[in-house]
Amino acid sequence: MRLEKCYFCSSTVYPGHGIQFVRNDCKVFRFCRSKCHKFFKRKRNPRKCRWTKAFRKAAGKELAVDPAFEFEKRRHVPVKYNRELWAKTVEAMKKVTEVKAKREGKFILDRLKKGDELDRVRDKHEVEKHMHLIKSPAAGLKKQKEIDAEMELEEKATEHVKAGTSSVNTEEEGKVKLEDKEDEIQEMLLEEDTDDSDDSEENADGDMSDDGQ
Ligand SMILES: [Zn+2]
Repeated sequence: MRLEKCYFCSSTVYPGHGIQFVRNDCKVFRFCRSKCHKFFKRKRNPRKCRWTKAFRKAAGKELAVDPAFEFEKRRHVPVKYNRELWAKTVEAMKKVTEVKAKREGKFILDRLKKGDELDRVRDKHEVEKHMHLIKSPAAGLKKQKEIDAEMELEEKATEHVKAGTSSVNTEEEGKVKLEDKEDEIQEMLLEEDTDDSDDSEENADGDMSDDGQ
């Protein structure tokens, strides 16, 4: 049983299938189906139709150069029948198909690796482009640190006021803060005084009402 290859898409043509065209220079063209025959009649180039083996090999999408393809070459020299050779050939065919499948799988995986790399580059570029949309977890840390430092300064200033020292006088800001603090403390004292007086008045009123009853 001789299995032919389709002239257009390179798929296998089994006996009794497809169409055979013989040109007037005796070149034989076999086609697996009417689709390939039609494209041939329209003088289409199989290398430019994306669905053919010729295109895929030319575009580097499939393994094109490999010593395993040597086994499929058509030989015009007839081989004398030899039972041992026949048995060996059948064994070799199995092995060859196995090796070919392995190599093609590796080729496809290598091809996909390049795509992954390109994806990674594209993702990186996108992130860089839209960096302003991403909020860093350390975004508010610097501001928080500044606020903490100010609080510490204020605390130190109040301590100095209590101790009666004025070592922060060299800094104008510290001076201003100290003055503010002093004012606040004075206000607090005044408020406490007034509160006391209010309380005493209220008590006095209560006493008065009690007396009245
Ligand atoms: Zn075909």
